[in-house]
Amino acid sequence: MALREIRIMGDPILEKVSKPVKMMTPRTKELIGDMLETMYENMGVGLAAPQVGVLKRIVVIDTSLEEEPNPIVLINPEIIEADGEQTGEEGCLSLPGKAGQVTRPNHVKVRALDINMEPFELEGEELLARAVCHECDHLDGILYPTKVEGELHDVTAPEDEESEETEDGEEAENGTEA
Ligand code: ZN
Repeated sequence: MALREIRIMGDPILEKVSKPVKMMTPRTKELIGDMLETMYENMGVGLAAPQVGVLKRIVVIDTSLEEEPNPIVLINPEIIEADGEQTGEEGCLSLPGKAGQVTRPNHVKVRALDINMEPFELEGEELLARAVCHECDHLDGILYPTKVEGELHDVTAPEDEESEETEDGEEAENGTEA
């Protein structure tokens, strides 16, 4: 496995529509391993293939934060149910140091293929639902600033933060970028 370079907003590849994966190949497996490694290295909760410059419908997600790692791989994901609503801070590894308020469904059900190209369904709420929506948007070339209410704002890098101090009672930004 290897770290891959994360594309930053302004790179035209981030606005393209990714293509479905037709079959699993050693190269695609390697890509998925690299995506997971790159996501963990950058403390993200999700990463989509176009963010590492590959226009394939693959996303990786792990919303376990400080708990046991729980990597989720979604190939050709389709959101088949979405309900409820949540409004909260969202970030993206392709927009380092920025965040903004985005409203997403509070609950989603997604149908996808796993790494063996077997279909499965996954349900998620709150952060997981947000991450699924955010990552699926990447596959259609959509970046979250198009959905931000108000303006994007700067966030302080976790290592620069005063211990346990958060602004206006907001949750710490650590590990919420996708
Ligand atoms: Zn993102």
